[in-house]
Amino acid sequence: MLGRISKFSRVDKNNPCPICGKDHWCRFATLEDINGKEIPVVICNRIQSEYEFMDNGGGYIHFIDNIPVTVKLQSVQERNTNKMASLKRRNLIYQKFLSYFTISDTTMQSFIHSRGFNKELIKYLEYKDYDRSHIFQISQELYDIYGDLTGIPGAYLKEKNNFKYWMFGGLDKSVLLPCRALNKDNIFEKGPIQAINYRIPGAEKNKYRYLSSADKQNGTSSGAPVHVSVPMVLKKKNIIGITEGIIKADYWANRTGMIVLSVMGVSTWRTAISVVKDIQSLISLEGVIVAFDADKKNNEYVRLYENNLINALKEIGIKTAEAYWNLSLGKGIDDLLKNGHSPKYKIV
Ligand SMILES: [Zn+2]
Repeated sequence: MLGRISKFSRVDKNNPCPICGKDHWCRFATLEDINGKEIPVVICNRIQSEYEFMDNGGGYIHFIDNIPVTVKLQSVQERNTNKMASLKRRNLIYQKFLSYFTISDTTMQSFIHSRGFNKELIKYLEYKDYDRSHIFQISQELYDIYGDLTGIPGAYLKEKNNFKYWMFGGLDKSVLLPCRALNKDNIFEKGPIQAINYRIPGAEKNKYRYLSSADKQNGTSSGAPVHVSVPMVLKKKNIIGITEGIIKADYWANRTGMIVLSVMGVSTWRTAISVVKDIQSLISLEGVIVAFDADKKNNEYVRLYENNLINALKEIGIKTAEAYWNLSLGKGIDDLLKNGHSPKYKIV
């Protein structure tokens, strides 16, 4: 006899089912054992287990203890969210939102000196310092121009002394990084802004978040969309890269002159596949280069996810190469290139 099962949430594109890999039908849930301890489980409707789940949805209970803890926590959380606004509307409002901010000399210099960017590139990428000292006025102005901001991740209604007003969340003194979608009108041009990513100031690990307002009044979850980085000068039109993190993708894309996709984390590799398929339908794509951080190569889950990504690319008929290098030459592909080295390639 299993304990009580509660806190259901559906799998989706950003959090697909860890058992069957599909992005619909299956559910995440929490199983409470007799001592009240909560155990994350997946109720998969496609792959059988010894425990059949008897409710209207049905399915089979799987324990996901072999999945890394970070994935468990993200997946099992139940989030309240509104439906996201159209890409066109998000782009319109985020463009205006970003126009209120500038980038300070200090931030500019740190991107130039420690990351190898140049001024022109930072301007092109539209990185901004998030100075929230006027965020109340900015939020009201956005509401005056665009109306109801429900559906814009980051925006939510705040209530104080019976007075309701729109606000944008996020952290003061962070750096705002536009997360762009594929430009379906012209794939070789910078695409519309679908979400805003930001760097958490002072944090060592897990440094990036999306501007999101799930669980807030009239709030909307950002999900974890794939960023499509189109370089200022495009040199290679038939090869694309895949890595983890927006800054890394932007640097790699502009150093090599090819389009680079970035996923939020290696565990969310599945989100990249649908974007690769879209690209495949628009141009003759010859191959994909996958480059994850060198310090993670010994982590068995990272290896597993990377192999899953490579296999999924093969399945849709894409030639794939894995970029690798010695950790002493740099952690990420951006560090490696900035330090004046090149990766080696293994055709997989
Ligand atoms: Zn499933």
